[in-house]
Amino acid sequence: MALATDSRWRVACVLLRKGRITIRSTNVFGKTHPMQSRLADRVGQPYRVSLHAELRALLNPKAATCDTLVVGRVNRQGELCLARPCPVCQLAIFESGIRRVYYSTDNGTWSEFATRNKVE
Ligand SMILES: [Zn+2]
Repeated sequence: MALATDSRWRVACVLLRKGRITIRSTNVFGKTHPMQSRLADRVGQPYRVSLHAELRALLNPKAATCDTLVVGRVNRQGELCLARPCPVCQLAIFESGIRRVYYSTDNGTWSEFATRNKVE
């Protein structure tokens, strides 16, 4: 999914409910959303207006039934890269109630994000 996006940042996100993929989303180049702007203002990074894959997934009404978020990024060659949620998405994830978050890392593996630590 991430490789197929037209965004400069090839990011894809899925939300799972009891181990099954319920929502799929990607970064979308040149697209924004009022919620993205509001959250970006709240974390003091108003320039983050482009709609991120994580927030796009969380805006889906079905997100309320999900328990796990997985976000991954690839480079042009399709290799996994770091996709740790940015402060805007961290806030959105925290407020969504989703507590299990995994993201791809630069060494090609996946890491768990500690949502208990709130926003940095
Ligand atoms: Zn983000």
